[in-house]
Amino acid sequence: MSDASELPKSEKEEEEVTPEPEEQSDDSSEEEAAGATEMDFLRNLFSSTLGLGSPDKVLDELTLEGVAQYIKSGKCKNILCMVGAGISTSAGIPDFRSPGTGLYANLQKYNLPYPEAIFQIDYFKKHPEPFFALARELYPGQFKPTVCHYFIKLLKDKGLLRRCYSQNIDTLERVAGLEGDDLIEAHGTFYTSHCVSFCCRTEYNLDWMKEKIFSDDIPKCDKCNSLVKPDIVFFGENLPVRFFTSMKMDFPRCDLLIVMGTSLQVQPFAGLVGRVSKSCPRLLINMEKAGQADPLLGLLGFGGGMDFDSDKAYRDVAHISTCDDGCLALADLLGWKAELEELVKQEHARIDSEGKKEKSSESKGAAAKASSASAAPETKKEE
Ligand SMILES: [Zn+2]
Repeated sequence: MSDASELPKSEKEEEEVTPEPEEQSDDSSEEEAAGATEMDFLRNLFSSTLGLGSPDKVLDELTLEGVAQYIKSGKCKNILCMVGAGISTSAGIPDFRSPGTGLYANLQKYNLPYPEAIFQIDYFKKHPEPFFALARELYPGQFKPTVCHYFIKLLKDKGLLRRCYSQNIDTLERVAGLEGDDLIEAHGTFYTSHCVSFCCRTEYNLDWMKEKIFSDDIPKCDKCNSLVKPDIVFFGENLPVRFFTSMKMDFPRCDLLIVMGTSLQVQPFAGLVGRVSKSCPRLLINMEKAGQADPLLGLLGFGGGMDFDSDKAYRDVAHISTCDDGCLALADLLGWKAELEELVKQEHARIDSEGKKEKSSESKGAAAKASSASAAPETKKEE
């Protein structure tokens, strides 16, 4: 393994091992697509364990400029984004699942057996009150996506976004205009909720849940009176099935992976960076470097971690900044900056005006509720 991987590029070997599966699959059936995925997987496995087929260097330089040139070249058609809490912090949304944010220290008032219990499914089913009290406390006053969210939307509008994989549960990708198929919410979402009863599973929307969260009631199913839980993934629950099915199709075909606002520490999400092909450039926009290969695992032929700085670095670029600044810088290099800024301005204005409408109807609603509540405290109508 060591000899071959020492060589910076050996194109002959690359051509022998790489039969260009993409070109064969023009009239691709599902089976062929799956076959190509397996080929990619095997090729990655062989090249990483045996050092065969050193990958092509796709970027002219390992900088944001290099990435921008690549996008402009037209060879980069399938961009995947992987995003985490860092893309939402400038929207004022606390990273409330990660330890070390001060949040867990704030949980004493809920009398939890231990702080993480608040996000554990078994505890929640018996004691839902602390979770909903916390949700009420942390519920953002107004959802407003960030520059970074709109940059991803711009990638979609330009036909370059294959999909965005998000660890966030704040629904801001949806607010920014990504639709169901554009998005994998790996850790679930507040956007929808379901009755926890396996026989029932009735779905409820965000407005319904929001109303329950802000009333003092624990959300209960209108049909069977079981608990209703937002579709966020609690500890002890599986990730959504779509995460696993899409991942297998998306990553081997990715032309550029953009990782933003995540320290890549939570599995299985973090492991996705190792699932793109060996030649696929990976751009990290984050406040610190992340996802770097464990040197020991690298020696063993595992890894697939990021390599920004070593002598062998050939495809990974770290842009250390806030996600918003990094996206603005990249948009500038792509000639999209004015377009991005205009999109942000227009969309924020739209959200503000909708927020005002909602507030005025809410205060009317609250007044109506107050008068009806005094007459019949338990009646709650669906809207
Ligand atoms: Zn139910």
